[in-house]
Amino acid sequence: MTKHVLVTGGAGYVGSHACKALKQAGYIPVCFDNLSTGWKEAVKFGPLEVGDLHDRARLDEVIAKYQPLAIMHFAALSLVGESMKNPAKYWATNVNCALNLIQAATDAGIDKFVFSSTCATYGDQDGVVLNEQTPQFPINAYGGSKRAIEDMLRDFGNSHGLRSVIFRYFNVAGADPEAEVGEQHVPETHLIPLMLDAIAGKRAALTVFGSDYETRDGTCIRDYVHVSDLVDAHVLGLKWLEEGKPSEVFCLGTGNGFSVREVIAQSRNVTNREVPIIEGDRREGDAAVLVSGSVKAKDVLGWTPKRAELETMIADAWRWHQAPEYAE
Ligand code: UDP
Repeated sequence: MTKHVLVTGGAGYVGSHACKALKQAGYIPVCFDNLSTGWKEAVKFGPLEVGDLHDRARLDEVIAKYQPLAIMHFAALSLVGESMKNPAKYWATNVNCALNLIQAATDAGIDKFVFSSTCATYGDQDGVVLNEQTPQFPINAYGGSKRAIEDMLRDFGNSHGLRSVIFRYFNVAGADPEAEVGEQHVPETHLIPLMLDAIAGKRAALTVFGSDYETRDGTCIRDYVHVSDLVDAHVLGLKWLEEGKPSEVFCLGTGNGFSVREVIAQSRNVTNREVPIIEGDRREGDAAVLVSGSVKAKDVLGWTPKRAELETMIADAWRWHQAPEYAE
């Protein structure tokens, strides 16, 4: 039996890695993407169906064509800073698209849904150990829109029997160790790729956003999780749903926090090059510390991150950074 999975945002960073993991696990990932931020070159592991999640008719057509057994929903606007400046765009796009997708899925009788959520739904809870039980108080429209979709999944679970696995990501980093796919955003806003650009001389310097946080060195602390480990958890989440198990929420992080300065120091080690730095102001919407305190994905799903060292993440990102596809 062919096992199709509809992967929205499959041409993006996390989605493209998920497609690779799904293919390796025996599924056929059908990438549904409007290519607004994704890359058709990153769709290497299954068919590409170009479409927009606002377009219900197109979505119905693709679902009817492949009859996927489940949905993996990655497509979303995901920039914290942009969401502070333009909340309407985030609420309208992320929430409406998810609603359309969930309705299309339930109307087609699909009852399995894996959702890409975020620790940005927690907001700024300095000192609190973040896990699945932690109350969510988002401080930006990005986190707010993702939380709203989590609520939507709960409600459709009650009304339509839709079962979902929600993953709240901490900071996704690294690239496919074989460098078939990797991180490539335009514009790029994330710390590690921007830093590698600065190291490679593709930008003048990396700006450190704030050195006056109440952290060990004054810079923000984040929990970095390797993209290949992250998508492995998604395959486990899909299998969980295929086994008929109930909706669940899992945090995905390693539990280790690194400051911006520590990430910079590790990048010097990995690349053997200097990182040109500018000390800048705080970026609006940034929490001081976001670190997972959860082991639920390991205990319940049997998730075992294999590339959990920050050094490995940066080395894989650096390899991808030097791959011909990245330079194009
Ligand atoms: N950061 C930084 N300079 C940059 C980009 C990011 O100092 O050019 C910091 C940012 O303030 C945050 C951390 O690096 O503390 C990770 O930011 P990123 O945008 O990669 O992920 P986010 O935490 O926003 O999801």
